[in-house]
Amino acid sequence: MSNGECLFCKIAKGELQADVVLDRDGVVAFRDINPQAPTHVLVIPAEHLASLEMVAEHHASLLASLVSAINEVARNEGVAGGFRVVSNVGQSAGQSVDHLHLHVLGGRPMRWPPG
Ligand code: 5GP
Ligand code: ZN
Repeated sequence: MSNGECLFCKIAKGELQADVVLDRDGVVAFRDINPQAPTHVLVIPAEHLASLEMVAEHHASLLASLVSAINEVARNEGVAGGFRVVSNVGQSAGQSVDHLHLHVLGGRPMRWPPG
């Protein structure tokens, strides 16, 4: 399923240009247009899911593919062993694109808690 108006659906389908670093098993990873760290890659399902809240039991294999992609991105970016994965759910948490995406951030020291 896809959402014709959705920015990240368009990137997943190649209709909108992005710096794609990985594309396999229903998962696409591309560089964030406004990077917050030396490595800032967004990992998304090609399928339109609005957020993590829409993930259900039957998405088990998709979840495994997302995590596998995250780890591959971290290795390829040279940040394995020191990176952060963030997914903002809902406007109040800072979600600005309503297509599930996992931010992979690395290449600089990370503070906690995030703002
Ligand atoms: P959110 O705020 O929903 O957690 O994250 C959305 C992210 O998508 C932001 O970090 C923003 O910079 C990124 N973004 C928004 N539009 C585009 C785009 O057209 N291309 C790319 N590569 N990233 C985008
Ligand atoms: Zn979408």
